[in-house]
Amino acid sequence: MGEPMDRTKSPFVSQTTFEGLFPNLEDVIVEGTVGESAYNRDPIRFSLRERGGLIRCPNSKCWSGGFEVDFPAGDMQREGVTEKAVRIRCAGRENSYKGRRSGQPCPYSMEGTIKLKPKAAAPGV
Ligand SMILES: [Zn+2]
Repeated sequence: MGEPMDRTKSPFVSQTTFEGLFPNLEDVIVEGTVGESAYNRDPIRFSLRERGGLIRCPNSKCWSGGFEVDFPAGDMQREGVTEKAVRIRCAGRENSYKGRRSGQPCPYSMEGTIKLKPKAAAPGV
């Protein structure tokens, strides 16, 4: 497994907790497959509450990659959508090394479904 992107440097990502981003949700589940081609894919099941907003890329040559799923989940929350099919290309590059930005874009992609799980309604008073 390569080095994932360092999102602490991204101006768009605050270090907000799941609860802060999705106060009305029990969890966000991503189910699908990750792989380099259509024929060589591994199933994944990912909980944003447990794992955060970035699915790591399994490509050992990948640098600064991963699949950001908290952004589309946030869009879904705003749009009131609870289930959405997504295809996300890895943001990383192959065969580059630290501090250098050469190399081919990582060919890996994530395909699957993002599901927003609403919190159970509070017991009636
Ligand atoms: Zn990658």
